[in-house]
Amino acid sequence: MVDMIQDGAVVSLAYTLKLQNGEVIDYSEVDDPLEYLHGAENIIPGLERELTGLQVGDAKDVRVDPADGYGDYDPEDVEVVERTLLPRDMELKLGMVVAIRDDDGNMSEAYVREIAPDSVTLDFNHPLAGQPLFFNVQVIAMREATTEEVEHGHPHGVELEDDYDDEFEDDLDFEYDDDEDDEFDEFEDDETDPLDKVQ
Ligand code: ZN
Repeated sequence: MVDMIQDGAVVSLAYTLKLQNGEVIDYSEVDDPLEYLHGAENIIPGLERELTGLQVGDAKDVRVDPADGYGDYDPEDVEVVERTLLPRDMELKLGMVVAIRDDDGNMSEAYVREIAPDSVTLDFNHPLAGQPLFFNVQVIAMREATTEEVEHGHPHGVELEDDYDDEFEDDLDFEYDDDEDDEFDEFEDDETDPLDKVQ
């Protein structure tokens, strides 16, 4: 029985995530909270730390700076690659996410920043890199993790299973939905409404 957020607790959170300009870029509602395993790096460190000790029913505003979130924006982490490096039949559009295999065979994901006839500018920064993040969180429920959940490092909730393990594993993605295009659309300077990706 856990009554305070601590390592090994599976926590259900409702939250709203805003950028500095007040734009809401993600949220999870009270009746469909995010479930995560505390202490297992399921969520960004700056948020996890501030949640420690909270109880069910608590609400809190948390500001997370890039160092405790998705890191600083690294201008060097942008590359112009030959169009031929990407599959010929891939229909490129700005803001979409592409997976690129480097010389060592490692896959990394990048989003498309510019498209020229023969080349494509790829940004390997996390789209939220360099941005302070403003969360409002509300603790909906918590329970003790099972042994298996602790071993796996994530909760075995009703809907997380697949998505959870394979998308953006190491960037502590804050449970965006599984449409990767939408995830990045908000970073284009265009008409996209970030809220229509939710649910
Ligand atoms: Zn598992």
